[in-house]
Amino acid sequence: MAGGPRRRYRYVGPAELSDEVRPGGEAVVIGCQADLDRWLKGRGGVQDLDEPFTFVVGLDGLLRLAPRRSEHVACAGGRDVLAAGEVRFAGTAGEWSVAQVSNQSTGYCPDPDCWPAVAGALERAGLPHPGDFTDKLLFRRCPGCGERNVVKDRYFFCDLCGAMLPEHWNFDCWA
Ligand SMILES: [Zn+2]
Repeated sequence: MAGGPRRRYRYVGPAELSDEVRPGGEAVVIGCQADLDRWLKGRGGVQDLDEPFTFVVGLDGLLRLAPRRSEHVACAGGRDVLAAGEVRFAGTAGEWSVAQVSNQSTGYCPDPDCWPAVAGALERAGLPHPGDFTDKLLFRRCPGCGERNVVKDRYFFCDLCGAMLPEHWNFDCWA
């Protein structure tokens, strides 16, 4: 995939979750079909394919998976990422493909623009994908109160304080 310099996402969620990240507690890198096969069969039995898994794409461009409902920041080992979201697979051993994929991560609040990083990671792992996120979330930080918002139905107002939210992704405005 072509494209300009990729945005690097910092963890923007609650500090107490970030504090829980411990070295060695990171997710598994999925670099090929066999990695995914091992991961799906691992951890004491075949994982349920009907529910999505937590994923991040690390700064190395590689896909990392963690069991569903894991925090993205734990999946990333507390580090910055190129992309984050949820993914659901379909298929059988050696022929896994991506059935659904989203940028749903309230820990990193990534913009849907991070898709090329996801596509690159999936292609490196030999995993066919739908060509774009099947579900896209628009995250915005409220300029008034700082709350993380998910914009629904083009309603660009803060859930908490009602302030107007910016048209463009803005989590880089707070250092
Ligand atoms: Zn607000």
